Amino acid sequence: MDNQDFDIRDKRPDRDFEKALRPLEFSDFKGQDKIVSNLRVFTQAARKRGEALDHTLLHGPPGLGKTTLSNIIANELGVGFKVTSGPVLDKPGDLAGILMSLEEHDVLFIDEIHRLHPVVEEYLYSAMEDYRIDILLDKGPGSKSVQLSIAPFTLVGATTRSGLLTAPLRARFGINCHLEYYDHGVLQTIVERSARLLGVDISDEAAQEIALRSRGTPRIANALLRRVRDFAMVKGDGSVDIGITRYALEALNIDRFGLDEIDNKILLTIIDKFKGGPVGLGTIATALGEDPGTLEEVYEPFLIKEGFIKRTPRGREVTDLAWAHLHRSRAPEQGSLF
Ligand code: ADP
Repeated sequence: MDNQDFDIRDKRPDRDFEKALRPLEFSDFKGQDKIVSNLRVFTQAARKRGEALDHTLLHGPPGLGKTTLSNIIANELGVGFKVTSGPVLDKPGDLAGILMSLEEHDVLFIDEIHRLHPVVEEYLYSAMEDYRIDILLDKGPGSKSVQLSIAPFTLVGATTRSGLLTAPLRARFGINCHLEYYDHGVLQTIVERSARLLGVDISDEAAQEIALRSRGTPRIANALLRRVRDFAMVKGDGSVDIGITRYALEALNIDRFGLDEIDNKILLTIIDKFKGGPVGLGTIATALGEDPGTLEEVYEPFLIKEGFIKRTPRGREVTDLAWAHLHRSRAPEQGSLF
């Protein structure tokens, strides 16, 4: 085997890799068709009117493209893009500094907006509504505050836990988009696009296999592609075919259906502790030591979409697919002959 063609200097860390693959225009953003077509209309209309786009809330599990979409929104509007996140903004002053630095119609992206400090959140209300903020002039008993105008801007908020948003904050978003897990076919096109950008030769079958094992999530698909590419370079001839892909995914212990450790733990808990269900969400959460909201908003949707869990009137129940996947067999029904 001849390895000298490989670019061994390509040591960019994951962050750079993500940046290189991040779509910059709607036309490069695969899937989420309805959201994309609506956002195209809203951004074009805002541009035509010469106004800031309405404040936009993007919610959905991690790695589905919320940051990417907000970046695209700013690009398509032809405006500046500033990024911050809920937990970073400790006090209103932190937010005031960012708000005052915005230029007309800029996009301010706040990731994990459900984790905003309540005082900071309240401060955001008048900025979102009237493009005004209060600035405290002095400290102490004689302190005065003045109202300052800021440039009309668009707040794009992203959250994995929309259930934790307060009603007043939620009400201030004119546009509300829920991102869904990606179908295997769309993920395959994302893998193929990323491979092209990275100059990796990949077969259709290999791209499909990576897509199937990526938990419906582009970020995971891109990360797996990168790992498989490593195996192809070291153990193969650099090109990614189905053989090297399967080899790499087995070596990495990647689940056949793309489930992660917590997914499998959830299924095993329902099977082993509750005989497969039905069992209430709160009970599962307690058994796992997890927060019920995270279970419901972050983990369960994928397990339901892929047919591992069913919601029934009496609670959650795992399906035959889950029993088979975890190599468990159902206990015979009471009264059964076997
Ligand atoms: P989130 O903000 O929801 O956690 P990101 O926007 O950071 O997710 O997306 C993670 C990575 O996945 C990005 O670097 C981007 O390359 C890729 N990605 C996400 N959505 C898409 C998409 N629809 N098409 C192509 N690549 C995508």
